[in-house]
Amino acid sequence: MKISKELDRQTFKDKSQTQEDCHRFLAELKWSSGYSCNRCNPEKYIKGKQPFSKRCSKCGFDESTSSGTLSHKLKFGIDKAFEMLYEITISKKGANSIWLAEHFNVNQTKAWGFRQKVQLAMQSSDQFPLERDVHVDEFEIGTPQKREQGRSKVKKR
Ligand SMILES: [Zn+2]
Repeated sequence: MKISKELDRQTFKDKSQTQEDCHRFLAELKWSSGYSCNRCNPEKYIKGKQPFSKRCSKCGFDESTSSGTLSHKLKFGIDKAFEMLYEITISKKGANSIWLAEHFNVNQTKAWGFRQKVQLAMQSSDQFPLERDVHVDEFEIGTPQKREQGRSKVKKR
């Protein structure tokens, strides 16, 4: 399943209501074309230790649903990230960071950073923001930075 305009809001919400849902959804996306071990490649697995992760039955590598995807090492909840991801993806211009920050109650710098990553991922993966080849391992949200002072840039929507 793609996260795109074809995916309607309700379906997306249903699929990402709880953290468990998010992991299930990620697992669906990640292994939509089948499982093969990232380390040694065979296609047999057993259930892993993390939610919905898959563990290679040969080498024992336990691959989490979020490794190699946008939600890897997120500093805010996966559920919030999912909602933001959806808003950014369906919005024509990719929802602006001021609006994202207000709507999701996160620091604007974090919102901006997240949006950048999503848009980069979308470009490099042809509109598949959660495709397994998207690596954003250094992506961390959480560094507090001073907000721009002075003029208000908040736009009414
Ligand atoms: Zn393996």
